[in-house]
Amino acid sequence: MRRAQPRSRRTPHAVLTIAVALGMALTAVPAAGATGGKDPYFPDDGDARYDVTHYDVRIAYDPARTDRLDGDTTVTARAVQALDRFALDLKGFDIASVTVNGAPAKAFSRSGAHKLVVETAHRVAKGATFKVRVKYAGKPDAEGWHTLASGGVNVSGEPHSATSWYPSNDHPSDKATFALTATVPKGWTAIGNGLPGATTAKGATTTFRWHEDRPMATYLSTVAIDKFTVHKAKLPDGTPVITAYSPDMPIDAETEGQQKDILGFLASKFGPYPFSSAGAIVIGAAADDRNGPLALETQSRPTYTAALFDASMVHENAHQWFGDSVSFTDWRDGCLAECFAQYANQLWEEHKGANLDASYTDEVETNKDTPSYWATKLYDPGQGKELDFGLYFKGALMLHALRRTIGDDAFFTTLRRWTGDHAYGNASFPQFEALAAKVSHKDLKGFFDAWVRGTTLPPKQYLYPGSLGTPAGR
Ligand SMILES: [Zn+2]
Repeated sequence: MRRAQPRSRRTPHAVLTIAVALGMALTAVPAAGATGGKDPYFPDDGDARYDVTHYDVRIAYDPARTDRLDGDTTVTARAVQALDRFALDLKGFDIASVTVNGAPAKAFSRSGAHKLVVETAHRVAKGATFKVRVKYAGKPDAEGWHTLASGGVNVSGEPHSATSWYPSNDHPSDKATFALTATVPKGWTAIGNGLPGATTAKGATTTFRWHEDRPMATYLSTVAIDKFTVHKAKLPDGTPVITAYSPDMPIDAETEGQQKDILGFLASKFGPYPFSSAGAIVIGAAADDRNGPLALETQSRPTYTAALFDASMVHENAHQWFGDSVSFTDWRDGCLAECFAQYANQLWEEHKGANLDASYTDEVETNKDTPSYWATKLYDPGQGKELDFGLYFKGALMLHALRRTIGDDAFFTTLRRWTGDHAYGNASFPQFEALAAKVSHKDLKGFFDAWVRGTTLPPKQYLYPGSLGTPAGR
């Protein structure tokens, strides 16, 4: 995710200069509930008693009626334990019906901020696969749902957005494949994650179909409905690149074409591009003041507000490896996404000729007497700080210092091993620390304790390791 920066922080690199400063919705912390998962920051999110394998989300939406979305979602899941009762996450909406394996639920009820509690008519055996189908309708009004000034709609939000439009097990630890069927009035287009399916016209409506064939965390799912201009291209290996622009968004062929260069560059550093499609959704400003992030790494097709530009494309596409393919274990792991996406921007600058040792030294020297700059713990930064700006700036410095500590070979081998070993799964930051130590044959405990668990300027041996220790970089 990229978002507007607070005024109190210095922008450390030119690549962070963002033309449009939009606000960011603050994350509400829901109350703990007996039906939640195990996230230390969001204990009410998700339900650890089942594991979703696939979402089939069908929606109908007319931009002329912003107070109504009709939904019909079928969740296919495996029971982790025998189930008489379980919960989905969905905020708002009137529930018309809930069935489990085709049989009406014994009962369903709402609880907490976003729980839909389902009691099954027949017990689901431990290990069994089951399908729960929920039909619902109403005004989508939760975090992540954005009505656009153009009249369209976009879903983008981290940590939360899925609860605004379909029932889910809303936690990044439960990833699933995803199919979207979206029916909109003729003249409008719906864009989703992954590959397009058949588009069918019927009367005054058009139905668009999309499917993401690799497991996806719920916050990375999206739908955007607008009068899009859609461009299609291909990566050299044939992977489709689908780029959609809301009306009046700037369209620049050269910038759009950079997606191929950027994905090729990132693949050269991180390993093969993990998904079967790529591209962008470029949306206009939100109609209300509940703006989303400037950009979000929605899986296989990042969402950008207002324009495409290279720094943002590098960042969001780097997330396809870091955050999307390899996802958090829980929300303590934000660095696994943001530290790496931010450092990817610097690798891109280096590719274009920048001296990263010089910019690193400049950044450290500029901020060494500013305690708040170093105060964020990169792992487990604390509830409400799961996407703290420190993950971005201090996180990128940490990765450059790690690279200079273990050397380029070990550093980039670690990155490629990481994206390969954990592809399409979940991992935690401590696992990354262990892998870096294993690959480099170095004891990195002191380094990571100082940078990742520390809240002050790291000691000199960790701040200026290897060639960073010489003034040549300054
Ligand atoms: Zn990001």
